[in-house]
Amino acid sequence: MKAEKRDIRAFTKQQLRDFFESQGDKAFRGNQVYEWLWQKSAHSFEDMTNISKATRQMLEDNFVINHIKVDQMQRSSDGTIKNAVRLHDGLTVESVLIPTPTRTTACVSSQVGCSLDCRFCATARLKRMRNLNPDEIYDQVVAIDNESRLYHDRPLSNIVFMGMGEPLMNYNNVLKAIDKITSPEGLGMSPKRITVSTSGVPKMIKKMADENVKFKLAVSLHSAIDEVRTSIMPFNATFPLKDLREALEYWYAKTKNRITYEYVVWEGINDTKKDVDALIKFCKFAPSKVNLIEYNPIDDGEFQQASSKAIDMYTSILEANNITVTIRRSRGKDIDAACGQLANKTQ
Ligand code: SF4
Repeated sequence: MKAEKRDIRAFTKQQLRDFFESQGDKAFRGNQVYEWLWQKSAHSFEDMTNISKATRQMLEDNFVINHIKVDQMQRSSDGTIKNAVRLHDGLTVESVLIPTPTRTTACVSSQVGCSLDCRFCATARLKRMRNLNPDEIYDQVVAIDNESRLYHDRPLSNIVFMGMGEPLMNYNNVLKAIDKITSPEGLGMSPKRITVSTSGVPKMIKKMADENVKFKLAVSLHSAIDEVRTSIMPFNATFPLKDLREALEYWYAKTKNRITYEYVVWEGINDTKKDVDALIKFCKFAPSKVNLIEYNPIDDGEFQQASSKAIDMYTSILEANNITVTIRRSRGKDIDAACGQLANKTQ
């Protein structure tokens, strides 16, 4: 029986060097192939023109390059681009390019479906199938970088892990992908331009702090009152705010990095002064920024964006307490850009 071909991008550079040596070739060949795989994002062994034909054939016989495929690309009238990304096993995730006058941000997925169950989120309704591999995360970034150059005449400037999935539930692969994205042998991006956005997994936040990571942290908070948060993000019953706050204090003590809170204000859920006061109490221990995000409703209408009066109340009270506030307009409404919407319609 013929052995199954192995995924060559699961190999480290050293493993590729060892492989070529074991074949009686020079270890340096491993460096060349590694460069083709990552820096040049080669889609086939055929593309590796400085490798001999016989070696390319040997690679073809033994390995596969499991590149993602952008199955469907939708362009919004506001410049947002949404990709439905087909993985090698036929599953789909999504990634989004979000342009502003000064930057282009890639919003990438880390899981097929999600381990968590936020009630306002379209992805939560998809079955969690599996974690993405580092190369599948990396490829989403490369695809968006290419689209940014093509449609917006500039390279990608920022990355947020805010697409499908909870990145800290796929911690090792997310960190490996970030290593490749920031490495000079990959895309060479500064880690300061990368934000990992989590719903708050205390143990993993502490682990990141211990590992001295250089990227930024954002927390999807949405409420600083346990009962309210548990009602919209049921896993909060397992990871209550007290534990999250303790982990964030640990993060700040170690990294001295400002923490960003992602926060949607919904009508009748978290739109009172009591909710704002709880938020201030929760985040005042460290320099913080609150992004008030406009909600892109999913079909059932259970969650509705709060009134502009409620948003104004949040803004003025937060600012009076020296907490930086930004208001994020929802992007790509005409192309179903809310988390999980496209995949829900294409699966
Ligand atoms: S909001 Fe994020 S963490 Fe929550 S279910 Fe959706 S993808 Fe998962």
